[in-house]
Amino acid sequence: MNTITLKPAKDRSLVRRHPWIYANAIARIDGDPAPGATVIVRAADGRFLARASYSPHSQIRARAWTFDESEPVDHAFFKRRVQRAVAHRQTMVKDTGATRLIFGEADGLPGLIVDYYVADDEPHAQLVCQFMATGVEAWKDAIVQALISATGCPNVYERSDVSIRQKEGLEQITGVLAGDAPRDTLITNECGVRHHVDVRNGHKTGFYVDQRDNRVLVAQHAQGREVLNCFCYTGGFSLAALKGGATRVVSVDSSGEALALARANVEANGFDAQKAEWLDADAFKTLRRLYDEGQRFDLIVLDPPKFAPSKETVDRAARAYKDINLSGFKLLRPGGLLFTYSCSGAIDSELFQKIVAGAAADARVDARILKRLGAGVDHPLLTAFPEGEYLKGLLLQIA
Ligand code: SAH
Repeated sequence: MNTITLKPAKDRSLVRRHPWIYANAIARIDGDPAPGATVIVRAADGRFLARASYSPHSQIRARAWTFDESEPVDHAFFKRRVQRAVAHRQTMVKDTGATRLIFGEADGLPGLIVDYYVADDEPHAQLVCQFMATGVEAWKDAIVQALISATGCPNVYERSDVSIRQKEGLEQITGVLAGDAPRDTLITNECGVRHHVDVRNGHKTGFYVDQRDNRVLVAQHAQGREVLNCFCYTGGFSLAALKGGATRVVSVDSSGEALALARANVEANGFDAQKAEWLDADAFKTLRRLYDEGQRFDLIVLDPPKFAPSKETVDRAARAYKDINLSGFKLLRPGGLLFTYSCSGAIDSELFQKIVAGAAADARVDARILKRLGAGVDHPLLTAFPEGEYLKGLLLQIA
């Protein structure tokens, strides 16, 4: 059996059930494991720690599948893990056709993301997967079979066009894994709002499933307000604002394709297109321009892309977050609400709050945090794995 033996005292994180084994923690590898092969991980004194998948090209040299010595890693293992994850969503996630079924480490399947879209207007559903580590890559067939059997959905599409695969020595790849090719767009219903999802060409798996609860929250606070939604993508928060009774919604994104779907979404919901303005533009510049023009808003959403993809980029990202939040505060009327987010894993919630506080100070406003925000219950956070917390947000009100 292929075995990894750790250096003395390097077993602590595994004992605490953190699933990653870094290359610098390894003293010795016995056998000749292929990428994705299952290895036994032992402490320096020979104690069993975990069964893990081997990843020879990554600094994360192995990822734990199980800490239970009696649990083999086989087809039945993947069936159990997938069924457990799906059962959790069935009880916890309500009123939506867009669900994260598998959230990597938190579901005991490191490196795997699966989103599930159910169509609103026809009997049709689509599973979309991202395989981001050698372990889940090696067990792809077993995982796909387990997904089909747990959900009854025959259509599985792969969106493993993510740069992180390079670190694993894997090519980027997309394509049909089972069933029919995806529809050009699928219309799904999330909490009473219809969204077009382009599984093939959209961002990530086609839709930002993680913002569901936050979109509902925006709808709850939008009545009678003028809204600005920056980095709107296909208009998720804009539609929520329209649904909630906003009088005017200005939305900004630099992707023409995303804005085309956003407009189609207004129509699909029967909302008043006159209330929605879509600006195909750079959000940084647009925020300044709107301020200079004297435009002001009652509710602003800032949900930018990941500004800090790595630890090295945190400083520059912090300046970018501060810049947009400063503009956001300046554009708010007294009593106005700011929904502000960061999806950079490298910026933790404490740092994000500091950045936002700095922006409020520079804007010379008193900003009060009404609520701390995050991803929905289908993106659980494993206590042993704080790295899983990538999306953080704040709902603030200025005096
Ligand atoms: N809030 C959205 C998701 C936002 S994703 C939702 O709930 O669905 C981030 C978006 O920012 C993408 O659509 C991307 O096209 C856009 N974007 C990236 N850089 C930008 C920039 N400089 N100006 C405007 N939009 C930008």
